Amino acid sequence: MFFVLFGVRTKDQLVDNRVQTCEVCGWAAPQARLARTSKFTLFFIPLFPVSPTRYFLRCGHCMALRPARAAYV
Ligand SMILES: [Zn+2]
Repeated sequence: MFFVLFGVRTKDQLVDNRVQTCEVCGWAAPQARLARTSKFTLFFIPLFPVSPTRYFLRCGHCMALRPARAAYV
């Protein structure tokens, strides 16, 4: 009997933190910039990315997650 286990794993990695005003709650709170990558896995081993890296900002006060650019202006 032969079987293949495959799938996609999405992982968020912290790029940096910066205190700035949140557009959702209006507080000056640490905004964590996250890089989200999705990789094809074979037998639970991540092999190659299946989509381009996307960046998000997560507010440390209200935990709102919103899209961000790759670099701060
Ligand atoms: Zn906020």
